[in-house]
Amino acid sequence: MDLPNNTPDLHQFDHIVFFTGAGLSAESGIPTYRGKGGIWETYRYEEHACQRAFDKDPEKVWDFHEIRREFISHCIPSEGHKVIAEIEKVKPLTTVITQNIDGLHQRAGSNRVVELHGSLWRIRCDKEGIVYESHKIPLTNRRCSCGAYLRPDIVWFEDPLKEEEIFKAIDAINQSDLFISVGTSAVVFPAAQLPLYAIQKNVPTIEINIEKTLMTSMYQYQIQGTASEVLRKLW
Ligand code: NAD
Repeated sequence: MDLPNNTPDLHQFDHIVFFTGAGLSAESGIPTYRGKGGIWETYRYEEHACQRAFDKDPEKVWDFHEIRREFISHCIPSEGHKVIAEIEKVKPLTTVITQNIDGLHQRAGSNRVVELHGSLWRIRCDKEGIVYESHKIPLTNRRCSCGAYLRPDIVWFEDPLKEEEIFKAIDAINQSDLFISVGTSAVVFPAAQLPLYAIQKNVPTIEINIEKTLMTSMYQYQIQGTASEVLRKLW
């Protein structure tokens, strides 16, 4: 694939915001939610990924998340994750706002990462208000020392986003000089409001996706192709 002629040169920007979705991690072998092979073809979110399911059967919900942690622990960051991390090394204000929960941006070397939907690698006790990182598979204990069940620090279906993360994301966009969406269908709200916010702020916007999305026509530049190939060509 060739980049469209009018594509901006990323080297000319100092504060690029990357807004990433499941399509980027698809190249690391992690299935997206929508489309063929998506996780919800096999598992119903109502039974595995919402607070109601957890309240009803925490062991079943944990079994599902243990499978995902185990699977993702064997995946490696894609070329696309690596390019984004390389850009941050040269342009230290580069920020990633991700909808992904897999931790692959950090494993690729990105430091400024806003995890809008939380992380599979953080655990929390809602009773004590404690959040901590845990990479142990399987978990040593599914219960906190207070006796309550721990839960993954993830924004499940029907959960609100954490305000703090939204503010970080908005702050990054306010300071940005370029906004690039990578591999997101942009149908999951409120996250999908962020590209709209960037457009409204007159920040130049680029969309990278293998296919058109509902928002494609709103971006200033659209590049059709796989995340890794396009990002490598852009940098
Ligand atoms: P999505 O599944 O709705 O959409 C994925 C998008 O990526 C699609 O538009 C598809 O055309 C595009 N795509 C697929 N392969 C691509 C590639 N190689 N290069 C470029 N684009 C590609 O995902 P979403 O928009 O991120 O939203 C769904 C929700 O799913 C998010 O909230 C996210 O938290 C969650 N999710 C996360 C993971 C993960 O952590 N890896 C995996 C699945 C879903």
